[in-house]
Order: sequence, then structure tokens, then C-alpha cells
Amino acid sequence: MIDLTVTPWREAAACIDVTYQVSFFPSKEDLLGIAKAKAICATCPVSDQCLSWAIESNQTEGIWGGHTSKERRTIRRGWLEEIRKAS
Ligand code: SF4
Repeated sequence: MIDLTVTPWREAAACIDVTYQVSFFPSKEDLLGIAKAKAICATCPVSDQCLSWAIESNQTEGIWGGHTSKERRTIRRGWLEEIRKAS
């Protein structure tokens, strides 16, 4: 469960609309499920915030900000490298 007190952007999330009936935690073999979740993320007004939060909090499961966990691992590696270089 996402803590809305630390993620207020979540209130504007497209996925908060339960009428979609799409899982944002499809298995990695469920390519259709992944595509459906990503399609909703593509319409989301807070996808940038969502992706940043998922990267920074190291979410290892699910679709966040239109990216799978594998895609986020690549982004996170770059983000951590930037932090390392800046310090
Ligand atoms: S980007 Fe996707 S997972 Fe993130 S809040 Fe928006 S719809 Fe939900």
C-alpha cells in the first residue's frame, strides 16, 4: 500500500481509477498485461513523479512510471552512478 502522505502525486494517478481492472504487477511472462499497464501509464499526468519515486525507493516489482522492474534497474544504475560522481 502506497503511503499518500509521502506520495501526494499519487492522488492524480491514472491507475487510481479502478475501472481499468488492470494489474500493475503482471508476471514478466505476461506481455499483454505489461502492455496494458504501460498503456495506462502513458496517459498518466504524474508518470514522471511515479518513475522517480520508484527509482529512488527501489521498487523491485510491478510497473511504475511506465517501466518494468528490469527497465527501472537500468535507469537506477545510471541514477546511482550520477549520485556517485556528484559526491
Ligand atoms: S505512471 Fe502508471 S503506475 Fe505510476 S501513477 Fe501513473 S498510472 Fe500509476
